[in-house]
Amino acid sequence: MPTPSLEYTISMIRANTHYFDVSLRINLASPSAGPIKLMMPTWTPGHYAIEDFPRNVLDIKAQKKSESGWEEATVEKETKNIWKLNWGGKTDTIQAEYSVHAFEYQDTKSYLDTDHAIINGASVFIYPIGMENERIKLKLIPYPGWDKAATGLDEEAKWEFLASNIDELIDSPVEVGTQEIRSFLVNDVEHQISIYGEGPVDREKYVDDIRRIVENEISIFRQVPYKKYVFIVDFTDEAVGGLEHLNSTVCFVPRLRLLPREEYNLMLGIFSHEFFHTWNVKRLRPKGLGPFNYSSETYTKSLWIAEGITSYYDDYVLRRAGIYTVPEYLSAFAINVNLMSAYPGSRWQSAEESSFDTWIKHRKGDPNAPNVTMSYYTQGAVIGWMLDLQIRKNSRGRATLDNVMARIYEQTYAKDGRPYSDAEFEAIAIEFGGREAKEIFDSRVKGREDVDFDRYLRYVGLRLEPKSSEAAKGFLGIRLNRNETGKVSVSTRLAGSPAEKMGLSVNDELIGIDGMRLSLEKASFYIPNRNPGAKVTLAIARNGLLMEVTGELGTKPALERRIIPLSEATDEQRLLFKNWLLEEWKPQINYPEYTRSPDRKTTLDFV
Ligand SMILES: [Zn+2]
Repeated sequence: MPTPSLEYTISMIRANTHYFDVSLRINLASPSAGPIKLMMPTWTPGHYAIEDFPRNVLDIKAQKKSESGWEEATVEKETKNIWKLNWGGKTDTIQAEYSVHAFEYQDTKSYLDTDHAIINGASVFIYPIGMENERIKLKLIPYPGWDKAATGLDEEAKWEFLASNIDELIDSPVEVGTQEIRSFLVNDVEHQISIYGEGPVDREKYVDDIRRIVENEISIFRQVPYKKYVFIVDFTDEAVGGLEHLNSTVCFVPRLRLLPREEYNLMLGIFSHEFFHTWNVKRLRPKGLGPFNYSSETYTKSLWIAEGITSYYDDYVLRRAGIYTVPEYLSAFAINVNLMSAYPGSRWQSAEESSFDTWIKHRKGDPNAPNVTMSYYTQGAVIGWMLDLQIRKNSRGRATLDNVMARIYEQTYAKDGRPYSDAEFEAIAIEFGGREAKEIFDSRVKGREDVDFDRYLRYVGLRLEPKSSEAAKGFLGIRLNRNETGKVSVSTRLAGSPAEKMGLSVNDELIGIDGMRLSLEKASFYIPNRNPGAKVTLAIARNGLLMEVTGELGTKPALERRIIPLSEATDEQRLLFKNWLLEEWKPQINYPEYTRSPDRKTTLDFV
């Protein structure tokens, strides 16, 4: 094999400073007088937001090889993420060196301390424009005492890896340190689990649960499209979530959420979600999502498929793998139902609109977001479920959404490596789901109509009911936040709420209510226990000025609902219930009571 055109060496020796020292050797096919442009991505595949990774690059220096040795090349910054290298005469070898500050524990960023390192490609690799498809070698120089690297890249020798192009390099994160690496085989293919950090968990069972997820998802697509798969798992203090990659994923699991069983299972959903992406988005993908344009936004209307249908399956696969009980699965699914029906945002964004605008809306943490947006994760999970139940009903359980996913995968990526179009996905869904599937596309994929959850639940002998009797409870329609100094303020205000009518705003600090000093606990107790229609006076501080607002409490709507059985079920409903949930229909569902982890962020705790 010829020498790879690009050779990266990443030194972690200065781990205490959190700087990776990177050198890049560029081996040109023939002597050139330049110039060469180097580029750094501005976003990471899977996380659709511009992140401007070059802000962490300290400095770039470059040299060219000449007959007498190395000579300096000039480096001129051209845009925020492009550097132009110039030199005199011709050369076939350029060496660039730079340092990257890596101290952000987030799924798109990189991290380095004296304990371990996570290299997330887009935030570390700067590459020559025009050489994206060249072969690459990556060499690691670990911090003293570290003995392992977990990555989906092919290993050529200890600490040396190969990538066939820039996309593969960027899409193959690496965890380096002294973590534990376990593995198992499914269909004779190796699956590794690299676990960094301590946590209250039985690791045998943990690995076995992940194996069950892997087996179940492979059975949906019926093809294993990788030579090795690596789950890079970090047990964390608070960081939570995961990001999918070509044949690996990086998942952060807060250690307190490994307890109790319900939280543990919810956290397994990170693995079933990210692993499902191995097919849905990493290979079965809409146009634009690979090969990637790393310099600007890539627009697609199909993230509700890529992320949302993945979100439907992330819970459902846990049921199919026997990890979730029926009540556990239904309460996990009800989170989507509640978000979609409680927030006004679904009236302003269809699934396609939400997908398209992810770059400017989804990741921005806007306090008004619940009023005007509805996540494509939530919408897609609900739409995937509607399609699944409709297909099961029309076929009396002989076909499911699995058939749609397997067919579109087969017909596009597996057959000729091409992306799918929106119309193509819709056509296959209609082929299995009939005209009712077309209605789903018209009303919710492209439209903004309210979802009739009970219609689909009825197919399987179920319905919704309010989780607790909220009738006659006072309500302002705000979510409160307490900051580190103890101040309580409005973090979200629902559109059309009593709070909006009385002129209470986001960021208003709540000091008192009806003449009483107020704490978060007191507000959460007092407001629902006053009758709807009661007049309240709130003492607030706005922009540093004290003032009062007065108005009437409204009636608390049923923000949280749960799924329960109908009083009686027909044969068809019983058949479809069992077909979907793999258990006989029963006239009662016993939901477990448990104490939620303090790390779990509840999203519908409005007063
Ligand atoms: Zn995802």
